[in-house]
Amino acid sequence: MAERLVQVFSKKQIASRVRELGAMITASYAERPQPLVLVCVLKGSFIFAADLARAIKLSVRVEFLGVRSYEETTSTGVVQITQDLVQPIEDCDVLLVEDIVDTGLTMKHLLGHLGIRQPHSMRVCALLHKPSRSKVELTVDYVGFSIPDLFVVGYGLDISERYRNLPYLAVVEGA
Ligand code: 5GP
Repeated sequence: MAERLVQVFSKKQIASRVRELGAMITASYAERPQPLVLVCVLKGSFIFAADLARAIKLSVRVEFLGVRSYEETTSTGVVQITQDLVQPIEDCDVLLVEDIVDTGLTMKHLLGHLGIRQPHSMRVCALLHKPSRSKVELTVDYVGFSIPDLFVVGYGLDISERYRNLPYLAVVEGA
C-alpha cells in the first residue's frame, strides 16, 4: 500500500502555537537576570527549537543534546546520548526543548542526566505530548499540542529519517 500523509496540524496552526509558547516562556523568565539556556534535543526538535528561540523575546543561549531513543516507530526504552552539551549549565535556567513526549522515558532520563550538573532551574517545553502513553511521572511545563496515540511526522519529526522537512505535522497512512 502506498504511503499517504494526512495533515494533523497545519503550518499556520503550528506558527500560531509557537508564538503563544514563546510569549508564555518570555513572561515566565522575564525577571531572571541571566540568559535562558535552550537545550534543543536532537534531532527531532531542531525546527521547533529554531522557531521557538525566535518567539522568545529574551536573551537566550542555545545548546544541543543528541539523543537516540527510538527504532522505527517503537520505543526501545533505551536512551543513548549521542552528543553532549558544550557549555556548563551550573546555576543556569535551563529549558529543554523536545519535539514530542510520548512515554516520557527519554525526558525523565534527560532530566536526570542534566540535573546532576546543578542548574538553577530546569523546565520542559514539548511541541507535542501524548498523555495517554505516559509511563512515568513527569511535568511538561509548556506543551504545544496534546495528541492521542498517533505516530506523527513533519516539522522535524521523522520516520526512519524521512519527512523531517515537511512544513506541517502529519500521520503517515500505510507506513
Ligand atoms: P519517549 O521516550 O517519550 O517515549 O519518546 C520520545 C522520543 O520518541 C521523541 O523524542 C521522538 O524522537 C520519538 N517519538 C515518540 N513519538 C513519536 C511520534 O509520534 N513521531 C515521531 N516521529 N517520533 C516519535
